[in-house]
Amino acid sequence: MRNLFSPEGEADLAALAARRPLLAFDFDGTLAPIVAQPQQARVPLATARRLRQLGQRLPVAVISGRSLADLRSRLGFEPAHVVGNHGAEDPHEPATWSSTLDGLRERLRGAAAELQRCGVSIEDKGASLALHYRLAADRSIARTAIERLLGQPEPQLHVFGGKMVTNVVPAAAGDKAAALRRLVERTGAGAVLYLGDDVNDEPVFAADEASWLSVRVGVHRGSAARYFIAGPREVPRLLDRMLALTAEAAAG
Ligand SMILES: [Mg+2]
Repeated sequence: MRNLFSPEGEADLAALAARRPLLAFDFDGTLAPIVAQPQQARVPLATARRLRQLGQRLPVAVISGRSLADLRSRLGFEPAHVVGNHGAEDPHEPATWSSTLDGLRERLRGAAAELQRCGVSIEDKGASLALHYRLAADRSIARTAIERLLGQPEPQLHVFGGKMVTNVVPAAAGDKAAALRRLVERTGAGAVLYLGDDVNDEPVFAADEASWLSVRVGVHRGSAARYFIAGPREVPRLLDRMLALTAEAAAG
């Protein structure tokens, strides 16, 4: 991974801006800084204001692990496209897999007391389940309890980690890369700028499409993203570059 704010990154951004890109973003840890209480996460005003401006020039999308109802109230701007539940909740796609999680829901109900004792909170987001352990007194005990409960997950379930969370999504729902491909098709965008910070963003980075410029928010060894920025605090700087470059593209 290379620093996006480098001569090379700048050249790639300029080339991207000339191709009417789709601008797509993860939410937690990307647009909104990570906070101890997930219900307090918000897009900072400086970021929301710039995204509103960019949205008048280019298609803007947010693809989050949150449910859409939860996500929309935290944005402070209205992107043209939103996808929730790690790609599984797309307003334009029929969800045929919502009952896939029912067996696990049943098991979670049975283990609710033990999970609570270990500091694990269960979030049912409809199209996915999240087992949070950020607030656990001992996170390794919490993780062990989660692993014991999930055991060897059935093939129709996709289980993956995140920042202090274990997520379970119906495998048939696809991932963020699949959701992004649908958005590219829907918008007719000539290129993509994608920013994400976590395990569920890696399928997008790993897709390695020539016309997708991928940016991992936060330095992470082993990420397949082409570039990185230091954190959500650098997002406004990147958006300012896009505003300047798209103004030039429009004038040029
Ligand atoms: Mg994230």
